[in-house]
Amino acid sequence: MQSLLDRYGRVARDLRVSLTDRCNLRCAYCMPAEGLPWLPDDKTLTDVEVGRLIRVAVEHLGVTRIRFTGGEPLLRGGLERIVAGAAALRGPAGRPELALTTNGLGLDKRIDGLAAAGLDRVNISLDSLDRERYARLARRDRLHDVLAGIAAADRAGLRPLKINAVVMRDDNEPDVVPLAEFCLTRGYELRFIEQMPLGPKGEWDRGRMVTATEILDALSERFTLEALDEPRGSAPAELWHVAADDTQPGGRIGVIASVTNPFCGNCDRTRITADGQVRNCLFSHTETDLRAILRSGGSDDDLVAAWAGAHAAKARAHGIDDEGFVQPERTMSAIGG
Ligand code: SAM
Ligand code: SF4
Repeated sequence: MQSLLDRYGRVARDLRVSLTDRCNLRCAYCMPAEGLPWLPDDKTLTDVEVGRLIRVAVEHLGVTRIRFTGGEPLLRGGLERIVAGAAALRGPAGRPELALTTNGLGLDKRIDGLAAAGLDRVNISLDSLDRERYARLARRDRLHDVLAGIAAADRAGLRPLKINAVVMRDDNEPDVVPLAEFCLTRGYELRFIEQMPLGPKGEWDRGRMVTATEILDALSERFTLEALDEPRGSAPAELWHVAADDTQPGGRIGVIASVTNPFCGNCDRTRITADGQVRNCLFSHTETDLRAILRSGGSDDDLVAAWAGAHAAKARAHGIDDEGFVQPERTMSAIGG
């Protein structure tokens, strides 16, 4: 069987599938306030086309984990169908693990159907528990809906339930500890993600980025943290054990230091965008057009060859700190985070 092996010996087994570039929020670190020109429908892969790429990845390219993302994947009407199709696949390693990254809006109405379709896990993005700060950062007053989505995912029993948070300087820094308390008391795993230069052009400033160290310092003032010495492998988060105290039962918190301590050396990801382009890295400047192969009657072998070839050229590292670093043309929501 072919695998997604690159020049540096890394093998990709984790596929991120962007199901749409559209979103109902406008998080400041991800999208411009006015939104973006959305992909036209005829350029977006159909459910059948997405299903075929996932099948090829699982059956022929060694992919074992699939994460549906976007844009906001819940805006994709066919999500449950796509999940069910993926859950029916069997690769050499068996059934792929299926996860969803979502902003949580409307998840309360979809979670039972998604779980029934075979979804295993969900990551929900939540940057603030303060209504005003949430609305300012997401540019929509929807905190209440996100909390309803989180509660529904909790009730549905999908575990581990992970919460993703990006911390912005002079904005939601006061939320670091409250978010941790919220997650620890409910048994959710919180992941802080350093802000990457993938949002609106020219707005990212390394000097102003809130670093993993700063986040850990803020947490350490309130909690007793102990580094978990589990091997990190290809997992991007550095994990910390939080000791129980009078107010919370203890648990785990992760910090994804994509900028200050990149995990590129162990990266095992491959991505397809909503318009059917393979990207071998979030920061790649090149894409490989699988949609053209799908729509010109290409065989599974053609797709395998194009995908494996695209992946072989994966760069050693994202190069954010390199002189001459240039942010990719597509922003996070258009790539699929
Ligand atoms: N809309 C869904 C959501 O927000 O969870 C899925 C797509 S979103 C692009 C996936 C993840 O990327 C979110 O957790 C979001 O916080 C994160 N993200 C977006 N822009 C980012 C940036 N510039 N740096 C770091 N993380 C970012
Ligand atoms: Fe939308 Fe997710 Fe980007 Fe926020 S982070 S604007 S929810 S795609």
